[in-house]
Amino acid sequence: MEAQLKNIKIEKSKTTKINEVDFDNLAFGSVYSDHMLVCDYKNGAWETPEIMPYQPITLDPAAKIFHYGQSIFEGMKAYKDSSGATWLFRPKNNHKRLNISARRLAIPEIPEEIFMEGLTTLLRLEKDWIPSNPGSSLYIRPFILASGNGFHASPADEYKFIICCAPSGAYFSGKVKVLIEEKYSRSANGGVGYAKAGGNYAGQFYPTQLAVKKGYNQVIWTDDNTHEYIEEAGAMNIFIRINDTLITGPTSDRILDGITRKSILEIAEDEGIQTEVRKITVTEVVRAAKSGALKEMFGAGTAAVVSPISTFGHKGVDYDLPELQDNFASLLKKRITDIQYNRAEDKFGWRYKV
Ligand code: PMP
Repeated sequence: MEAQLKNIKIEKSKTTKINEVDFDNLAFGSVYSDHMLVCDYKNGAWETPEIMPYQPITLDPAAKIFHYGQSIFEGMKAYKDSSGATWLFRPKNNHKRLNISARRLAIPEIPEEIFMEGLTTLLRLEKDWIPSNPGSSLYIRPFILASGNGFHASPADEYKFIICCAPSGAYFSGKVKVLIEEKYSRSANGGVGYAKAGGNYAGQFYPTQLAVKKGYNQVIWTDDNTHEYIEEAGAMNIFIRINDTLITGPTSDRILDGITRKSILEIAEDEGIQTEVRKITVTEVVRAAKSGALKEMFGAGTAAVVSPISTFGHKGVDYDLPELQDNFASLLKKRITDIQYNRAEDKFGWRYKV
């Protein structure tokens, strides 16, 4: 594999789009850098990856991605520090999780060398695309799709692993109002909730649209069986602070094992914050909101980092969260972003220099 990768073919773009980008007003993930990495799986093996100008890809209309949704992805970020150096955050965790998703979707696993060397080679080429404005970063989207064709409902025999990059600003702006879901669910026991499978997100759009129509930004997913256990906040893991204890649900078949979630748990413990990883019920949260014991709720994920929730809705009632001066969300967000942007010591060894 090593020998193969030394030959990553690089075709540089003859032009650049970088001068068309307003780096002071970046939306999230909507402009793409000049290059992308493509690696094909054919005849039972991953081939040598190629870096090429960002461009459309051609697929057979019978490609299985279109019919059976065999697709998985990852989401990560590259950060630029004040000296201009580039950093990743726990990138090997993304590689491991991509392969966990791959196994669940019957997609061939991607070797670590292809993922890591492909990624770092691409990022070195796209260095100027990493924004340095506060809160900005280069969002990286590695994904695998079934390019092999056939209407037979079985796994494809060919795949494409692609990495694209998008300079991005904040994911959410303003207050985040969420609705606790009582009818729909994003995952079930024995299902694919723990995988980053494209279809998981497609299934979330409609219930989220319904919530948006009611004036909320996101859905809080509850368990498919009783809708009584709090599971995730949109495409983020969720943290709930009751009095001075920070609680998050255990990961399971239904919950994505978020890298931000596990990092936040470690940082919180390091800060001396009392943490609990346990099931948390809607009843408990509503009761805590009514008694004043509910202090904070926030989502945690790569895209939105730490995203405080201002209001949650449940059975037609809105509950506002207090605005605390000394809140865990700000403290934890600062600690994690200081590590990501190389502004503080990295006692956990999470930063990865590109
Ligand atoms: N849950 C879901 C459903 C997600 O899509 C994400 C984003 N990857 C997360 C949680 C957060 O995971 P991470 O911290 O690894 O980005």
